[in-house]
Amino acid sequence: MAAEETNKPEAVAIENVAAIFGVTGLVGKVLARKLISNPKWKVYGIARNHDHQITPIDQTPSNFHFIQCDLLNPLQTQKRLSLLQDVTHVFWVTWASQYQLDSVDCSDQNKAMMSNALDAMILNAMALRHVSLQTGMKHYVSLQGPFDDIKEARYYNEECPRVNPSCNFYYVLEDLLKERLNGKVGWSVHRPGLLIGSSSRTLYNFMGSLCVYGTICKHLNHPFVFGGTKKCWEETCIDGSDARLVADQHIWAATNVGLDDHGHAFNAINGPSFTWKEIWKALAEKLGAQASEEGTFSEDFWYSKAMADKKQVWKQIVAEAGLVQTEMDNLANWAFLDVLFRCPVKILGTRDKVDGLGFTVRYKTVDSILYWIDCMRDEKLIP
Ligand code: NAD
Repeated sequence: MAAEETNKPEAVAIENVAAIFGVTGLVGKVLARKLISNPKWKVYGIARNHDHQITPIDQTPSNFHFIQCDLLNPLQTQKRLSLLQDVTHVFWVTWASQYQLDSVDCSDQNKAMMSNALDAMILNAMALRHVSLQTGMKHYVSLQGPFDDIKEARYYNEECPRVNPSCNFYYVLEDLLKERLNGKVGWSVHRPGLLIGSSSRTLYNFMGSLCVYGTICKHLNHPFVFGGTKKCWEETCIDGSDARLVADQHIWAATNVGLDDHGHAFNAINGPSFTWKEIWKALAEKLGAQASEEGTFSEDFWYSKAMADKKQVWKQIVAEAGLVQTEMDNLANWAFLDVLFRCPVKILGTRDKVDGLGFTVRYKTVDSILYWIDCMRDEKLIP
């Protein structure tokens, strides 16, 4: 008995309690895994639906609690979230995607979702110290134009002004947090570029789209084509943001004194720039698809057209390879890929602010993509 007691691991006292809104999404999953691995954290993971693919949920460690909640439903949100009275840190890595981006409806819906959550938590979670909001690099541009065709890329820093005219829900969320937290609770906002991670719950899912496309190309012995503009193919147009880096940055800002006060904004980007042309061949090889030495580029190729009749092919691949059951549309968004590779504006940021403050996590975007292909294979989402 005495020996058993000596061998018992010492219980670690919980120091921080996280509420991750959007725990089944690209960054939410990684945040949950990182925080749960530290026994000083207790984690509530909130999402509209359960996702059995999330490792920490499958293993149900004692410091993780999944809460199913539709944040657009105020009564349900009040009922389920007002119980979370020990929360110290909120991570807002969710959004309502029903309406078109940059529309009044989209802004209103996202505002309602966050208002519902804050209404349920602010008066109950008395130990709340920090709210970490995720928006994106689209903070700096309006997709409604006008687009200035300058040759040199512009690198946005966090002080760049909001764009007008624009109905960007990112601005609405920042303003809402500032107003509701009212200087009493610290907050920060993180602005990733193109998110690189694994999820079957994401509307703008770059990795899902790329991997399903590459897998179908391999299966049908079709070339792995970059369908987009020459400019997007050859020039640096967008920053990659590895979901691991974005999650690390959220935690870094939320837990470092001085960074966790009122409303610091941080770009959340990988670092080194890239062009699709220079990495396309490596992506093709990793997915087992064919691309020429130069990569295969076509301005006339549209994913939404080429893939419109491939749902059955995906079903067959899923069955033959014994993958987790997904429909093609759960992972791939062809219209998104078409827009991404034809984006009329360059959306590039600087890392000077986080670098200067000592955040050292960086990835080469090609390495991020190759890493997440392996993860999607491990999760049996792709063969
Ligand atoms: P995501 O789509 O991967 O995850 C969304 C999460 O929110 C899921 O867990 C989903 O279940 C949950 N959710 C959605 N509606 C809900 C509701 N009504 N109630 C409860 N939970 C709900 O998220 P994401 O793509 O990482 O987007 C998060 C933020 O990051 C958004 O502001 C988005 O604009 C921004 N962003 C995304 C990308 C990208 O490439 N996807 C790039 C830059 C910025």
